[in-house]
Amino acid sequence: MSDNNKKSNFEKLLALDIGNMTVKEAGKHAEELREELNRHNYYYYIKDNPLITDDQYDKLLRNLFDIEKKYPEVIKPDSPTQRIGAPLEGGFPTVIHSEKMLSLQDAFDYDELKDFLTRVYKDLGLKEGEVEFVCELKIDGLAVSLLYENGYLARGATRGDGVSGEDITSNIKTIKAIPLKLFEDNEYGLPTNLEVRGEAYLSKNEFARINEEREEQGIFTFANPRNAAAGSLRQIDPKITAKRNLNIFIYAMASNEYLDIESHFEVLQYLKNIGLKVNEHIKKTTGFEQIQKFCQYWQDKRKDLPYETDGIVIKVNLFKYQKQLGSTSRNPRWAIAFKFPPEQKITKVTDIKVSVGRTGALTPVAVLKPVVIAGSTISNATLHNEDEIKKKDVRIGDFVLVHKAGDVIPEIIKPLKEKRNGSEKEFVMPLKCPVCGSDTLRPEGEAVRRCTSLACPAVQYEAIVHFASKSGMDIDGLGPAIVDKLLQKKLIKDSADIYYLNYEDIFGLENFKEKSTENLLNSINKSKSKPLSRLLFAMGIRFVGSHIADVLSKNYKTLDEIIDADFEELSSIFEIGPRIAQSIVTFFDQSQNRHVIEKLRNAGVNFQSEQKNLKINENFKDKIFVLTGKLDSFSRQEAKSIIEMSGGKVTSSVSNNTDYLLVGSEPGSKLEDAVRLDVAQISEDDFRKMINEQE
Ligand code: NAD
Repeated sequence: MSDNNKKSNFEKLLALDIGNMTVKEAGKHAEELREELNRHNYYYYIKDNPLITDDQYDKLLRNLFDIEKKYPEVIKPDSPTQRIGAPLEGGFPTVIHSEKMLSLQDAFDYDELKDFLTRVYKDLGLKEGEVEFVCELKIDGLAVSLLYENGYLARGATRGDGVSGEDITSNIKTIKAIPLKLFEDNEYGLPTNLEVRGEAYLSKNEFARINEEREEQGIFTFANPRNAAAGSLRQIDPKITAKRNLNIFIYAMASNEYLDIESHFEVLQYLKNIGLKVNEHIKKTTGFEQIQKFCQYWQDKRKDLPYETDGIVIKVNLFKYQKQLGSTSRNPRWAIAFKFPPEQKITKVTDIKVSVGRTGALTPVAVLKPVVIAGSTISNATLHNEDEIKKKDVRIGDFVLVHKAGDVIPEIIKPLKEKRNGSEKEFVMPLKCPVCGSDTLRPEGEAVRRCTSLACPAVQYEAIVHFASKSGMDIDGLGPAIVDKLLQKKLIKDSADIYYLNYEDIFGLENFKEKSTENLLNSINKSKSKPLSRLLFAMGIRFVGSHIADVLSKNYKTLDEIIDADFEELSSIFEIGPRIAQSIVTFFDQSQNRHVIEKLRNAGVNFQSEQKNLKINENFKDKIFVLTGKLDSFSRQEAKSIIEMSGGKVTSSVSNNTDYLLVGSEPGSKLEDAVRLDVAQISEDDFRKMINEQE
């Protein structure tokens, strides 16, 4: 099926009229909806990269619910209405939850909320005022389950499909708000086994920071903090998770049978007492009016919270009533999520401008008539690239519907085509760089057009600002304004020139007085000894973000070794794919970049990695090693460097001269060769012992 067909099918399913259908038609539409929803579940839950908005997803799901309600004979057990999340994809060990991790029924308006309350009262045989509800913020992150054994954190897992999730203990341990050991509660003590549930999330600031970094690296940006949090927690390497500054709020125990507590509200107090982080905005309420007041208050105030919320969760407080109400296969009957309507506004695109980034990327940005959304004024929105403009069909002069993606990033949802009067202008991406006038180029298969000139002032400005930034060489005092001044005065042309600035160059610029000039010169000097990984990141090589810079500096002893590495060698390093390897090779091939590197060297900037300088080790000296299979704690390149630095040699195939075959998991045919030729085989553990014996 072509993408176009998929699109038109999607729109048809979105606008489906459930009204008059035969059972046969209902069955057909239900099947189409299931297929469409499952496709989106995959992109949302497994890829953490949704293709449609949550609003659109919810509408599709609602359509399926409505069909299945009206025509129960078409329900299937594997329907997304009967299931939670998406099937697990592997990559992490599976955990079976002690109690199912459910989703929540949604209320999209106050009528639906009223319906829920009426049903609760009816099922309990009680009246309004006789049932207490706890209202809590619905944190927009992902559900996790934490198991504490004898007070110690023993395991962390994702919700997965509700029945089983992924064991992400190592990643969970990187969340500083999760205590590794609990306190004793004065009254209840601690159960031997306590499983709690909570929402792991990213703050709005952290979400924006991660996306900025990804945009720079040319990787897809996360649609919202929830997908970003899920993507961060489901990393195979906990070091990446640790860099994402995740946080958590705990909102329940897996089972309320652990202790003699009778209500949800008391459980929250208990969880707080034993050291878990519980959200402070919780309220006991009775009746629709009080609940509505809480929802309305937070619908407005949520913009001031540092994290994203997408609604209010309303839960029956007493456990005896919760038990009486029970659950469906998907959600409890004693709770509901009131979803905040997404804040969208209409405004006008007055122009589309093009900015040039440090990698030369031309980014079209819609200039908008200023409009206030979720508490801040929006006056422009990125349109990413020319394909995105075509896809959305945004024109200069269009009225557009805008919102903040993930409550943070201004985004045009769609143009309001019905409001066009013919005066709107289609945007054409410039073939010349708007800053320096050089040719622009869009390499085949890439979405981004770039300025081809390395000397482009926009590229240089952005590159130097990035070089000096906090996550780069961290040169305190060298911000965008001073970089701009230094470039204008032709005191610097590239990042290396920073190291040749003297007192007279800086004094007097941008209000620089004696003390501030000295301070800046000091921080420039201090930055010379930053770790190699920082320098690699600061250089602004495409696709080399802080993590890849780390990987490179762990695999090589010096910058010169990286410069000399060829494509094959680089791409054999775990986590460095062909795209990154090619970008590194291309970067170091450019004579202009080599020239900058020489200037950095002469200025005394550190080119050495912090990799331990291994001494010659008798276990390795003059020994020939061959490697096969996957190693757990070393990349191939790391293992190779260790062997070579310790005095050994690595060859690619097993022969009579081979001393050791280092065998990882899933070994190849080299293992058979080693058996045949009677070559000693060593495991990763043996290898580690051989290394340690020298220390
Ligand atoms: P949900 O997010 O609507 O509600 C259930 C979850 O709320 C719980 O699992 C829990 O993790 C969370 N939660 C947060 N705060 C809580 C609190 N105080 N108490 C209890 N629970 C709390 O349901 P879901 O099944 O996790 O996900 C459905 C959501 O995912 C919908 O918003 C849907 O739009 C979105 N989705 C979107 C796509 C897409 O393609 N755009 C695809 C699939 C799902």
